[in-house]
Amino acid sequence: MVHARLSVIRTLLLHLVSLIVVSIVMGACAAPPTQQPAPAAEGAAVEWGYEGEIGPENWSTLSGNFATCGLGTEQSPIDLSEPAPSDEFGPLELNYAATPITVLNNGHTIELEYEPGSTLTFNGQTYELVQFHFHNPSEHTLTGEASPLEAHLVHRDNNGNLAVIGVFLMLGEANPFLAQFWDALPAAAGETEVEGEINVRDLLPEDLSYHTYTGSLTTPPCSEGVRWLVLRDTVTISQEQVDAFTAIYSGNARPVQPLNDRDLLTNADDVSLR
Ligand SMILES: [Zn+2]
Repeated sequence: MVHARLSVIRTLLLHLVSLIVVSIVMGACAAPPTQQPAPAAEGAAVEWGYEGEIGPENWSTLSGNFATCGLGTEQSPIDLSEPAPSDEFGPLELNYAATPITVLNNGHTIELEYEPGSTLTFNGQTYELVQFHFHNPSEHTLTGEASPLEAHLVHRDNNGNLAVIGVFLMLGEANPFLAQFWDALPAAAGETEVEGEINVRDLLPEDLSYHTYTGSLTTPPCSEGVRWLVLRDTVTISQEQVDAFTAIYSGNARPVQPLNDRDLLTNADDVSLR
């Protein structure tokens, strides 16, 4: 009996202590801001977009972490006109496995995460496929022309270096790879699970000839040192499929950036897109 009463008192005391702690914490939250650095300086949750004050022309001013978007000299995307034939790099070696289908709307694009274990080997370096996503219209252009959509397959090596495969989707037949999940694009930020698995190799053309250059992320913070591999061959997408994407994201493409001193090379015999 005594024990029971003691434990009741102990419980009450614990409740009292947690109430006091909660009020202190809540009080701190409600208190006026102190001289903490503004969150914008951290770059963690800086709002950016594709239009107006938060659009690409102003990315570099939105956060100290985005300075490269304005100061960088090796930025992406670029216009891919007149790549120079080169045998400096070998073919792309893809070792992609199927992955469960999780379709993410991340607030800037539609993205599908990839399970670990799928790799790209390029120029003796192996990168792991992390995710792929889409831009409307294409970010890279060919002699100034954009395609309705461009897919980016993002790979990372053990040292954090990025290699991105770009593929143009041209208006034509419905794309059977996209058809596997295109009905499930989340209209608002969030993700949708779709039954089954997909292998993004099925999105790519058979011929993996590519144009390559060193560039950057095409979104803030625009970090450089990204190996771009834009496929010369294209795949198709139907108008209905384009419409389904643009109903959610229309114009999520950064304008082309100056090539500056960079080499644009191709391992294709025929440099034109086909
Ligand atoms: Zn992208």
